[in-house]
Amino acid sequence: MPTIPAVMQTPEIPVEKIVRSRRKTIALEVTPQATLVVRAPHRVPQAYIDRMILEKSTWIKKKMAEMRARPQAPVRLYEEGEVFWFLGRAYPLHYTDDPVGAIVRTDRLEVSRTLRPDIRNALQRWYVEEAKKEIAARCMYFSMMTGYSPTSLRITNAKGRWGSCTYKGGLNFSWRLVQAPLSIVDYVIVHELVHLRQHDHSKKFWAKVEALMPDYQRRREWLRENERLLRI
Ligand SMILES: [Zn+2]
Repeated sequence: MPTIPAVMQTPEIPVEKIVRSRRKTIALEVTPQATLVVRAPHRVPQAYIDRMILEKSTWIKKKMAEMRARPQAPVRLYEEGEVFWFLGRAYPLHYTDDPVGAIVRTDRLEVSRTLRPDIRNALQRWYVEEAKKEIAARCMYFSMMTGYSPTSLRITNAKGRWGSCTYKGGLNFSWRLVQAPLSIVDYVIVHELVHLRQHDHSKKFWAKVEALMPDYQRRREWLRENERLLRI
């Protein structure tokens, strides 16, 4: 039997999805979930994409291993002593007999036992409220520093993105961001504020971010490395 030429073999690497668009080149992206996403122009044949995946398979496998080695999202059971993050610090969960149903942050996260049946939502509501306070204060500070001010500020439940800006000039931030250290919260705020003037991720955009925050790359890298920790 004749052997199939290498270029015709199905790549051993599973492709999560192929996104066709008007772009001109093929891009391979290994997602934080260690899956492969291919971005390709509309008319590029499948065989061409397969060959490219085969050619880049060493790089892809290395990237996938890297992604798998990153810190994993904690499994939440909401048990006594379980750690929750707030501005980069760990707070062990502690149930109290407080009848009011309050959540108080001391050196622990003190949660009234009466909230236990609906603890997930209760904690989320608490994070949203805290995120409103912290993010609004930092956003105000950087607005004054930069002269860029959003028309509105919203705290969202977004899971995949930490911040975004609307076409009306408003900024949205995920409550999940408030789990990260303040320096990381600041980076996301500055990033979105700069978007109010520069809507893309062009060189000009990154130059503006760098001018305001010379070590932004280190912060960005932290977010990439640790994002799964924040996905509660
Ligand atoms: Zn951006």
